[in-house]
Amino acid sequence: PDEAPAIAVEDLCKQYRTHWAVDDVNFIVPKGWTVGLLGGNGAGKTTTIAMIMGLVVPSFGRAMVLGHDMATERHKVLSRMNFESPYVALPGRLTVRQNLMVFGRLYGVANLKARIEELIEDFELGDVLDRVTGRLSAGQKTRVAVAKALINDPEVLLLDEPTASLDPDRAEWVRSRLRAYQKRRGATILLSSHNMTEVEQLCDFVVIMSHGRVVAMGRPRELAERFKCRDLDEVFI
Ligand code: ATP
Repeated sequence: PDEAPAIAVEDLCKQYRTHWAVDDVNFIVPKGWTVGLLGGNGAGKTTTIAMIMGLVVPSFGRAMVLGHDMATERHKVLSRMNFESPYVALPGRLTVRQNLMVFGRLYGVANLKARIEELIEDFELGDVLDRVTGRLSAGQKTRVAVAKALINDPEVLLLDEPTASLDPDRAEWVRSRLRAYQKRRGATILLSSHNMTEVEQLCDFVVIMSHGRVVAMGRPRELAERFKCRDLDEVFI
């Protein structure tokens, strides 16, 4: 497993009734890379990420993280990864500090208080710490959700449209935090996005999905050239 890619998705499929939400998807994410999963609404990004997290069981194929099949061996790798996804929303009734404490305990983080202090500083959460998470603005919630995803200093980080509800300045701010984390930790990041500009700025490699399938992959600049577009909703819906 030590030589295994951070993430390997092999013949991955998910069927809901007669509908194939994810239809034979294959890609790998080498250790230390940031890869973007790009596509419009309903392309299958959320379902793919949920299978890589081990929260949705594939109908066929498998999703591996650090050499472990996430459908059967999730427990072996859980402490080394983390995620931000609509499948696991932050409990809205807890304050920001309580949320960070709860997820930190769940992951068995050593020196949790010190780790929370670092995240408060990095994500500028000082002002909202004692506020109830459910009442924060979308932008504030995103900051908390991304901070929570870093609580255990994960080697592998999965993010489902981390900037979707943010204005351009705040989105750029979140991207800068992710870049800083990637650089410091040498972490592997897989994030989904609608936005070609975002993946160009952040990602080493892009996988484009449409209707459950991979329709293209490559370096972001090559793909931007090839499709000559900013927002892939234009092309793939
Ligand atoms: P979005 O950007 O809207 O989140 P997505 O690319 O993340 O889109 P998915 O959420 O993975 O796409 O959905 C892919 C397809 O699978 C959609 O047609 C969706 O309606 C369907 N789907 C997803 N989850 C379920 C479910 N639990 N039951 C039935 N159908 C589902």
